Amino acid sequence: MKVLVINSGSSSIKYQLFDMGDESVLCSGLVERIGEEVGSLTHKIAPDTDAADKQVLEQPIPDHEVGMTLAIDLICGEQGVVKDKSEIAAIGHRIVHGGEKLHQPTLVDDSVVEELEKIIPLAPLHNPGHLAGISVARSLFPDVPQVVVMDTAYHQTLPPEAYMYALPYELYDELRIRRYGFHGTSHCYVAKEAARIVGKSFDEFNVITVHLGNGCSMTATKNGKAVDTSMGITPLEGLVMGTRSGDVDPALHALLARTKDMTSEDVDRMLNKESGLKGLCGMNDMRDIHAAIEKGDEKAKLALDVQTYRNRKYIGSFMAVLGTVDAIVFTAGIGENDNIVRRESVKGLECFGVKIDEEINAQRASEPLKISTDDSSVAVWVIPTNEELAIARETKDVLNG
Ligand code: ADP
Repeated sequence: MKVLVINSGSSSIKYQLFDMGDESVLCSGLVERIGEEVGSLTHKIAPDTDAADKQVLEQPIPDHEVGMTLAIDLICGEQGVVKDKSEIAAIGHRIVHGGEKLHQPTLVDDSVVEELEKIIPLAPLHNPGHLAGISVARSLFPDVPQVVVMDTAYHQTLPPEAYMYALPYELYDELRIRRYGFHGTSHCYVAKEAARIVGKSFDEFNVITVHLGNGCSMTATKNGKAVDTSMGITPLEGLVMGTRSGDVDPALHALLARTKDMTSEDVDRMLNKESGLKGLCGMNDMRDIHAAIEKGDEKAKLALDVQTYRNRKYIGSFMAVLGTVDAIVFTAGIGENDNIVRRESVKGLECFGVKIDEEINAQRASEPLKISTDDSSVAVWVIPTNEELAIARETKDVLNG
């Protein structure tokens, strides 16, 4: 069975075609700068193998329909990895925000589209792009089942004391203002991988998953169910990210309005795009930050310290939430590659039974790697995330009932 996974953003479309027989990636691609003067499409055949081959197109891509049609021509055309569109059994769409109603992976019909339209105010940056992708995919593949897989789904099991904000209750009643949590597909994937690797049943597994990429979030899973997470009603709350602040005092908006005459939109933009690592040191890529630290840049060191201190604080609080912790798992761009961030994020947690082996932690691996010492009572793992494969699996499961 071949499953196409689509992650359609406001001006980009990412795709991967899986052969679910062996879960290999047949091809993948990225359409970028949709709506700009010149757009681009990068298409890779068998990207994970020695036979990998890349094609790049540069041309105006005025809308999602043109972008997706170009991609489909490369996937299914003469040189494509499949000879005919009919070979694609299903399409899985990544959805950032499913609100309170959409949580199980769901077959797309008009009512699902309507629900996604209704919750645009909760995810104004993401859901319109997803809807554009769904609409084009439905018109290009009218007979192919399409499934939506929500980033918010995994955190639907949070108990009310974890998802409610201490605000006037009417805000929840009227606007569904609550913690939703994000990166759920990634947290779920690596949490299950960790349980599988250590040979424990997921229903009895307690794990803290630490997703550190451009966006960063942490989730506590108890007996196989998410019980708390760092991101909130939007993906801004919690950890320090590339350009996002994470937690700040909510009085900041009023203070900046009074002292710097900033509007709420100004503050929102600043917190999302000009804060985090970038706000502290001018750089948002952790590799550049390490290079700058080597040259003695004190602000770069401060940015690293603020991020890893926040990670540590959240790991400690999630240990308190869970009581017994079987594992801590690092994943995503920084979590998978940056041994210094990992080391600093668990520094001082030895008294809670968390001990990492510096030498193993410094190793590079594309496979899951246990970086804790044998006498650490909490196992610490690095596990590469694979959100696209998780979406492909969910899509296949929906099709198989
Ligand atoms: P996204 O959240 O956009 O999916 P990724 O998970 O791909 O992001 O993570 C991207 C980030 O990972 C980059 O901004 C960079 O800071 C970090 N990163 C990638 N490779 C390395 C590396 N070798 N060392 C340190 N950081 C890295």
